[in-house]
Amino acid sequence: MPNDTTIVNLNNKGVDQNTFDAIVIGSGMTGGWAAKEFCDHGLKTLVLERGRDVKHGKDYPTTSTNLWEFQHHDRMPVADKNENPIVNRCYAYSEASQHFFVKDKEHPYIQEKPFDWIRGYQVGGKSLLWARATQRWSRFDFEGPARDGFGEWPITYAELAPWYSHVELFAGISGNYDGLETMPDGEFLPPWELNCVEADMQSKLNSAYKDRNVIIGRCAHLTKPKEIHLQQGRGQCQARVVCERGCPFGGYFTSVSSTLPWADRTGNLTLRPHSVVHSIIYDDKKGKAVGVRVVDQITKQSTDYFAKVIFVNAACLNSNLVLLNSISSRFPNGLGNDSGLLGKYVAFHNYRGTINATIDGYLDKYYFGHKPTGAMLPNFRNVRRQEMDFMKGYMVHFSADRHRGANSTEQIGADYKDAMAEPGGWGVFMMIQGETIPKEANHVRLSKDQKDQWGIPQLITSVGYDENDEKVLKDFFQQGSEMLEKAGCKNIKTKDSKQAPGLDIHEMGGVRMGNDPKKSLLNKWNQMHHCSNVFVTDGACMVSTSTQNPSLTFMAITARAANHAVEEMKKGNL
Ligand SMILES: Cc1cc2nc3c(=O)[nH]c(=O)nc-3n(C[C@H](O)[C@H](O)[C@H](O)COP(=O)(O)OP(=O)(O)OC[C@H]3O[C@@H](n4cnc5c(N)ncnc54)[C@H](O)[C@@H]3O)c2cc1C
Repeated sequence: MPNDTTIVNLNNKGVDQNTFDAIVIGSGMTGGWAAKEFCDHGLKTLVLERGRDVKHGKDYPTTSTNLWEFQHHDRMPVADKNENPIVNRCYAYSEASQHFFVKDKEHPYIQEKPFDWIRGYQVGGKSLLWARATQRWSRFDFEGPARDGFGEWPITYAELAPWYSHVELFAGISGNYDGLETMPDGEFLPPWELNCVEADMQSKLNSAYKDRNVIIGRCAHLTKPKEIHLQQGRGQCQARVVCERGCPFGGYFTSVSSTLPWADRTGNLTLRPHSVVHSIIYDDKKGKAVGVRVVDQITKQSTDYFAKVIFVNAACLNSNLVLLNSISSRFPNGLGNDSGLLGKYVAFHNYRGTINATIDGYLDKYYFGHKPTGAMLPNFRNVRRQEMDFMKGYMVHFSADRHRGANSTEQIGADYKDAMAEPGGWGVFMMIQGETIPKEANHVRLSKDQKDQWGIPQLITSVGYDENDEKVLKDFFQQGSEMLEKAGCKNIKTKDSKQAPGLDIHEMGGVRMGNDPKKSLLNKWNQMHHCSNVFVTDGACMVSTSTQNPSLTFMAITARAANHAVEEMKKGNL
């Protein structure tokens, strides 16, 4: 079979040169963490990254560009929108950030059902681009799938809690100690403050509802750096909120500013950009994976690299792709795929609903700078028991800010220009972050006949909404509108964007964890049940999606699994 990964391409000299203790596939949010943990423990670690190198500070070309200096005022021209409809739908894709996004034709895939696959292929991955919202998942999130019968987490909140702390202390997470069981507190730097409208809404909603709590958002920004952050060469967030251009201050967490340079300083890191991982090489005789096959992104030449342990951190769908493409006599349907479930149970967040409103007053209040987070309202549906006619629930993100252009009815001219320099009235924006239920039918698989530029089969996405998602959305519109009304808002307008899955950029699953090898691919330490020296620790490993943002949990799971791998290596088990 042409893709059989048991065929090794190198002579012995090449094998020695290309052998490491650990290989990490992907240098983004989770790959950076695996690399840091391994290098800290003295493992010679190879990080393989399909995209170009990005160096902190040096490779942020637009970070200080003023709005008026961009050719199109930081908007994308129509030609680009026509050529790249998928990536243009992402709110963060702009003239200032486009170089960190994958354009539509750069890596084709097949949408059996509409799926907006938003990607960042460079050292740092999407950690350069993310919105930095970071909350711990609660015990309800880990217990939920078993309670509701759609899965089973092999780990508890209590087991992950120390690893949340480990990641939070290093990455720097700002937040308030709110004491909520639905959103456990972490190791926080000082919180940002709600503005006057958000704070008023907080007191009105907290007293109107016994089951709801409005809190200041928690985010990966250094509000007051500690020694560990200064050691990383990072400094205080300047509240510029142009983060997706890359931050020269290191004010928000990225693997480029934090974990990777830290790993590099140990002398144990080898970072190889332009290295598209084709597959993982499985040795039938040894009964384990021995390395990774790479196609050079530019020359298209193939090279094999070897290690005792392989961490798959290419981001959810690409991790699925690599494993599905890792075929051998032992695993003809993808690495470790005895259960036949590889690529299945893909889920995401329901981001379709937004609500806009206005609120009178507060015209004497004005703020300088841009805080990088708004308010959050943790999930209040079906938390302790099933209460609604839908499963699980949703979190609400909301914020208030002043419109531009006080008192101008004109759309052009001097009056309009003057008005635009003055703040207008206040607007309130709410959005849903809804949990979706992983289902076998929501899956990805490989095309049998269409390949990409590197000779790798294209991914087919077959992931959609279901009736549960519609009911959750309806409830959000009702409850969100009611809450805005109770808070004194007017002109309340709901909007269903009907956006495709994927645009939430929180895709999860396909290589789910679990205790039962018949129902899952990975054990409680993220090792493949049937190939124990391969670990998958990015979104692909997730059993459910929670209503919380996912990346903090991906990072904690990665750090935990990497430390377990080190322990197992010391014992000679890997
Ligand atoms: C605009 C935006 C806003 C977001 N906001 C939030 C938020 O507020 N909170 C939150 O929790 N999450 C947010 N996310 C999601 C977050 O960025 C991801 O969850 C996180 O980056 C995933 O980490 P990862 O390591 O799995 O993937 P990535 O960070 O994407 O890294 C994967 C890396 O693997 C590389 N790679 C892929 N395939 C291969 C291959 N075959 N060979 C070699 N290398 C490969 C990629 O090039 C990439 O560098 C947001 C994302 C975006 C884009």
